[in-house]
Amino acid sequence: MKVDLHTHTRASDGTQSPTELVTAAVAAGVDVLGVTDHDTAEGWDEAARAADAAGLGLVRGMEVSTRLDGRGVHLLAYLPDPTYPPLVALLDKVLEGRSSRVPAVLARLREVDVELSEDDVARVSGDAAASGRPHIADALVVAGVVADRDEAFRRFLNPGMPGYVDRYAAPLRETIRVVAEAGGVSVIAHAWGRRRTRSPDEAAIAELADLGLVGLEVDHQDHDAGARDSLRAIARNLDLVVTGSSDHHGTGKVGHDLACNTTAPDELERLLDAAARARAASGRPAPEPLGL
Ligand code: AMP
Ligand code: ZN
Ligand code: FE
Ligand code: FE
Repeated sequence: MKVDLHTHTRASDGTQSPTELVTAAVAAGVDVLGVTDHDTAEGWDEAARAADAAGLGLVRGMEVSTRLDGRGVHLLAYLPDPTYPPLVALLDKVLEGRSSRVPAVLARLREVDVELSEDDVARVSGDAAASGRPHIADALVVAGVVADRDEAFRRFLNPGMPGYVDRYAAPLRETIRVVAEAGGVSVIAHAWGRRRTRSPDEAAIAELADLGLVGLEVDHQDHDAGARDSLRAIARNLDLVVTGSSDHHGTGKVGHDLACNTTAPDELERLLDAAARARAASGRPAPEPLGL
């Protein structure tokens, strides 16, 4: 059984519609797919219709932009009630930070003589609920400034580069609590990805586990073999669920093909058991996994 629990659609910065993603997942031999757009549940309904029609197992989730002690942490929230008002408020604040960053980035790019308008970005982001740097990257491609998203990040959009602007992210501890209140479960995405330091360290992760963190995404393209081994050991010590996933973005991110990393079936079962308990404890009409 192939389980891929972290993917993106055009509801955020993926390049596929939810239906196209489901079709691609079936073609890649995926049996259970997690759809986890950045900071939005906007793609859930279309993904559910497509998965149902295709006979694909579906776990609805989202990847929330959070911050712990000044550092960005991506938190995968699986199966929360997306109408729970505190969760809606938390995501609205993050989405507002995403929207207001776009003109700020464009102003910085103008300082290095790269002219893009908000309309140029809107044309490539379409009706995405969550705008992001990848959309600005796409606009730079359309304008002929760079060849692809990767070049746009390297030359302009990564921290330290001339188009970089920080944005608001939700407090991590509060997000874990709100996700649980919404009947969902939290898993830290690519915990040590793209970092020189291995943080959060085991002590910090233990504290988050006490607050209700359920799992760690261990198998991810941003982790080398050593990081995976260490994170797996931490998960074992703390009785956390271990997930693995592609973080697929369609053609938007190279080296993240569907099912390039997968989650073991017994770990999926532990995750879904925890979600069922969270749902029951919350009293919220949280979604359930589909086709499982
Ligand atoms: P943002 O959410 O606007 O802060 O942008 C960060 C997102 O951009 C990440 O979640 C990735 O999906 C994407 N990203 C980061 N680096 C790259 C890259 N080199 N190429 C393509 N996408 C990237
Ligand atoms: Zn992304
Ligand atoms: Fe991420
Ligand atoms: Fe992601």
